[in-house]
Amino acid sequence: MKKTKVIVIKLGTSVLTAGTDKLNKPRMIDIVTQCMTLKQQGYQPVLVSSGAVAAGRDAVEHSVGVSIAEKQMLAAIGQGQLIHLWQSLFALYDQPVAQLLLTRADVEDRGRYLNARDTITQLLKHQVIPIVNENDAVATSEIKVGDNDNLSSLVAILANADKLLLLTDQPGLFTADPRSNPTATLISEVEQIDQSLMALAGGAGSKLGTGGMYTKLEAARTAQRAGIETIIAKGAEPQVIEQVMAGTAQSTTFVRFDAPLEGRKKWLLSGPKSAGFVQCDIGAVAAISHQGASLLAKGIVAMGGEFARGDVIEIRDLDDQLVAKGLVAFDHREMDQIKRLHSSEIPLVLGYPASNVVVHRDDLVLLDVYAGSV
Ligand code: GLU
Repeated sequence: MKKTKVIVIKLGTSVLTAGTDKLNKPRMIDIVTQCMTLKQQGYQPVLVSSGAVAAGRDAVEHSVGVSIAEKQMLAAIGQGQLIHLWQSLFALYDQPVAQLLLTRADVEDRGRYLNARDTITQLLKHQVIPIVNENDAVATSEIKVGDNDNLSSLVAILANADKLLLLTDQPGLFTADPRSNPTATLISEVEQIDQSLMALAGGAGSKLGTGGMYTKLEAARTAQRAGIETIIAKGAEPQVIEQVMAGTAQSTTFVRFDAPLEGRKKWLLSGPKSAGFVQCDIGAVAAISHQGASLLAKGIVAMGGEFARGDVIEIRDLDDQLVAKGLVAFDHREMDQIKRLHSSEIPLVLGYPASNVVVHRDDLVLLDVYAGSV
């Protein structure tokens, strides 16, 4: 039997409010009908819906919502309204929906990650549309994903999605800011999300608030690595979801990488917390990023943190830039003893037989600017 394709659709606040300061019901009805068409065509939509804070703000005085605690209050008020609205609109089609409120902490731990994945799998199996948001009311900054673009790429991984659709107020990524530069043109397809493209989207320094193109590129980069295609399109465009599926929408498509990663690697991609790090020399970085090699003790110049065998650690280059994450084969004390050593020296130093592989290739994923290397 052919597997039903899952499409994760991320709806930004600007899409759900139609640019106003409250949820726009006609816009939401429009999205519901489009989702039902998608279902009729044999796809399974999963929604990542923003709009909780906006809905909450509409319910109290509009001046409220500056401090974090006030925003959390608004999310607590608004999330109920948001899901109620989705539920009643989908009920017009007898379509059940489910609410999932996630934080980064729910994917950091492999057990919790698998648990969230099982819930989504069950919902899809029973033809229920999951509607996901960040658990803003209680999520502190340490455990927050922080923006629904990145959250949607994690959801796409959890749901084993085929496509990730980021609906926003722009039809896609432009060669320059179209609001200030009339010569800017839409980029229809992106293969490699490199640093110059990230800079085009505003660069890391301008990560103001949530949303924006920068976080969309981060999300697309995560999805791409997991073998998921990402499309940015304009949510206000009539029948935009249908158009995207037909390939006729004005949009930016980020092609998926071949060789979708197996389960454990997908989890590594979803950003689990790392217990420590190792810093590697140029040779080791080149070997893991260009030759598909494992990380060997010889290439490690420094380390930090207290980790046990099997923990997630960060692999960094000499500039402290993140290269990869992986499951480490030694604990931090052993690592300290074996760094810089050749394979023949390791058993002598440790006093027991051990290999020189610190992070095996099968337990490692390249990240950030190194993501597209192999
Ligand atoms: N979770 C937020 C909300 O529902 C939105 C965050 C975002 O759009 O990135 O209001």
